[in-house]
Amino acid sequence: MPKKSVYFFSKNQTDGNKDMKNLLGGKGANLAEMAAIGLPVPPGFTITTEVCTYFMANQRFPATLKKEVGDSIRKVERIMKLKFGDTNQPLLISVRSGARASMPGMMETVLNIGLTSKTCQGLIAKTGNPRFVYDAYRRLIQMYSDVVMEKAEGIEPAEGMGVRQQLEREMEKMKRERGIHSDTDLSAADLQQLIGIYQAKVKQVLGREFPDDAYQQLWGGIAAVFKSWNGRRAIAYRHIEGIPDEWGTATNVQTMVFGNMGETSATGVAFSRNPATGENKFYGEWLPNAQGEDVVAGIRTPNPLNESTKSEQNRHLPSLEKAMPAVYRELDAIRRKLERHYRDMQDIEFTIQEGKLWMLQCRVGKRTGTAALNMAMDMLQEKLINEQQAVLRVSPAQLDELLHPIVDPAAEQAAQSTGQLIAKGLPAGPGGACGQIVFSAAAAVEWSLNHRPVILVREETNPEDVEGMRAAVGILTARGGMTSHAALVARGWGKCCIVGAGELQVDAHARTITVRGITLREGDFITLNGTRGYIYSGKLAMKDASENPLFQGFMKIVDKHRRMGVRANADTPEDAAKARSFGAEGIGLFRTEHMFYGKGSDQPLFLLRRMILSKTLAERRQALNELYPHVKKAIKDTLEAMEGLPVTIRLLDPPLHEFVPLSEEKQRALADSLGISLDDVRKRGNELHESNPMMGHRGVRLGITYPEVTEMQVRAILESAAELLLAGKSSKPEIMVPVTCDVNELKNQKQLCLKVYQEVLAKTGVAAIPYLYGTMIEIPRAALTADKMAAESDFFSFGTNDLTQMGYGFSRDDIGGFMKDYLEKKILPADPFQTIDRDGIGQLIQIAIERGRRTKKNLKIGICGEHGGEPKSVEFCFQVGMTYVSCSPFRVPIARLAAAQAQIRQKQS
Ligand code: ADP
Ligand code: MG
Ligand code: MG
Repeated sequence: MPKKSVYFFSKNQTDGNKDMKNLLGGKGANLAEMAAIGLPVPPGFTITTEVCTYFMANQRFPATLKKEVGDSIRKVERIMKLKFGDTNQPLLISVRSGARASMPGMMETVLNIGLTSKTCQGLIAKTGNPRFVYDAYRRLIQMYSDVVMEKAEGIEPAEGMGVRQQLEREMEKMKRERGIHSDTDLSAADLQQLIGIYQAKVKQVLGREFPDDAYQQLWGGIAAVFKSWNGRRAIAYRHIEGIPDEWGTATNVQTMVFGNMGETSATGVAFSRNPATGENKFYGEWLPNAQGEDVVAGIRTPNPLNESTKSEQNRHLPSLEKAMPAVYRELDAIRRKLERHYRDMQDIEFTIQEGKLWMLQCRVGKRTGTAALNMAMDMLQEKLINEQQAVLRVSPAQLDELLHPIVDPAAEQAAQSTGQLIAKGLPAGPGGACGQIVFSAAAAVEWSLNHRPVILVREETNPEDVEGMRAAVGILTARGGMTSHAALVARGWGKCCIVGAGELQVDAHARTITVRGITLREGDFITLNGTRGYIYSGKLAMKDASENPLFQGFMKIVDKHRRMGVRANADTPEDAAKARSFGAEGIGLFRTEHMFYGKGSDQPLFLLRRMILSKTLAERRQALNELYPHVKKAIKDTLEAMEGLPVTIRLLDPPLHEFVPLSEEKQRALADSLGISLDDVRKRGNELHESNPMMGHRGVRLGITYPEVTEMQVRAILESAAELLLAGKSSKPEIMVPVTCDVNELKNQKQLCLKVYQEVLAKTGVAAIPYLYGTMIEIPRAALTADKMAAESDFFSFGTNDLTQMGYGFSRDDIGGFMKDYLEKKILPADPFQTIDRDGIGQLIQIAIERGRRTKKNLKIGICGEHGGEPKSVEFCFQVGMTYVSCSPFRVPIARLAAAQAQIRQKQS
């Protein structure tokens, strides 16, 4: 173990700072930073993440920890002039989790530690406020029995039978008996009685007494916080977010300050700007006479922070700005100070104890895609950040979210007039979502596995639901506020989310929602407008988020910092137009076979089949001649749509048998129309059958066997280009030969190209047609012999799907059987078909680039596999010096952003 396990923070001595997140966790590092810049932070200390990893490995604490913690407690005692566990001047503390990356609500925190039967009486004598003391005590019992005595012990109670829920039911029962609604209406005597009930219940449910010793509580709390790193929801969240299991959490021990001491006390959560929209207004929620977990756990729907951000739904509630104007002003000043200091939007937690403000947390706030974009552009203008920082502020996933649909405003208007607007709530996560309602996280996961879009409906927001929230297209709750942990997590994922829709009667047991006399059941469709907080019954139409001028402005800056090109994979003029509108600088992959699938493919497919079934060269030529105009039209239209931008056209790639029908009925129809026997069709089909078609007679191999097939395609390409030239239009076709493994294949096909080229010049009278000739690199041997391949190529394009298949020996269509195990057992860190494997396949790519460019210095190099739109792979492509990436049209903006970010990061490091 390292020498130092504990880092202190206070007004006069602070050991850590904001850059020590790895060691102190985000919460600890920022508590230290806030203390150091003079903000009011209750003193305390952070036990490092290294202690957590040690504890996990050894099931015990390092030997030196006891002394370090003891010393630090005494330091806090001196500052506060209180004593932990003391009857007369008791110090109370909180024990709080806090990992390197923010995981809101996923791990545990225990408040009010140090309250025992003895200290309780002392605190009452000292404060003269028995109601407050008993309230704090009952909270301690609730949290501690749940976190330390149940969860940390690995006890998994049945649904609804957790000790915390059982205690909460006791409180509900007492409230019912007293005829009161709010927790704060319980009297001191009520709470004292409740504590007795709680203690008995804990003993009954868990078989152990609630510990009546301050230090026992402290160490129990510390161990439980460390263990919560491996709690169910923490693990689930880490896997979704890709946070390594090895990191561990830090534990913060901090002097308690109390928001539950009466009407001049309060607690709250705020954002320095609106995390849903990005609007530059102080935004938050608060509750008087409460402790922090009431807000973040989403149990109560809180009050708005200020007047200017009130919404339709909380207009009637009091703002902090009005209720405690002086404290609000102080908080607002802190907000400004923090933003200037961190140069980013901050998410802060605060508590007011009898009129005095205390800061309990700050961190860079999670935000939606819209908010990320708006904030980046605003802060750039405010000169808080520069262009590079602005580009880095919007993640590729957030950009993706921005391009997602919203509820069609016209459909919304219509739905309002037909009474489909059933309720309103707080707009916690914007955008639109339409799906079937389910009432449990488990159902959400299960239904969505069956490709049903679901909206998870819950009584209150609850971080326990992470997996279900992830699976759902939208989230709806009857209680909870905008700043609750669950809302925070939903926003971080760009989920449409409405919380605190108080009118809804959610009955999770009966699986119904009742509202305004309507009952909705599991499986019924609803539509959410998360931007406004409107809930509709039924399915409403969605609409593409329209051309956002801010988005265009942002992408301009992105492009300024981007060198690597971005093209799209597109096979039709419509796709080409779409690709261009998303900013594609060319087509990186046009698949000729596309015209044989889907709409309008009947005639070309028929002609192709005839070509395949031809017995003689003459028959085949005849079929090819008839196929020619179809192929040419598809190519010419796309070239024209790209207006002189490069278009890489891949020669026929798939094995021919893919085009021979399998069913007898279809075979007969083909035989009839071709005037041959059914037997002939079958025989030919059988001849073409291969046991491993992925590595069979396909790609360039077809062109070697049937040169006339290549000739026809090349003619279509060059004649299209020539005709466009004659019409005064430019075009840049690039002929790409697929599935090559040897330079002689390229030489062979090049001869055909040159021959056709001369014929087309002669036929059209054009003096020269600009075109490139190149190959895909998708077989390991091609990569290794790239020096030779380059001699016959103007360009390479990496087909990383096939390169990954053949490099690993994994058939992509068959990985379903084992990939899950490979990932779970950590044999592989990620699915190599999702993100380029840098260690192995990446090496093949690097070797090919290096050897290829050694032969031909200005070899154009790109990628056209699906990896071309995946941000991490794009970064890799940039790092190895590719000329461009190519991806599906919708991914083009994401690839542009990822390419710029890779470039900026490289410069920074
Ligand atoms: P999380 O990481 O889940 O947000 P926290 O450790 O931040 O957990 O604790 C949750 C809430 O408990 C905080 O928002 C804060 O309001 C309250 N809290 C934590 N420590 C203290 C403290 N020392 N004094 C008063 N309230 C506290
Ligand atoms: Mg917190
Ligand atoms: Mg391929």
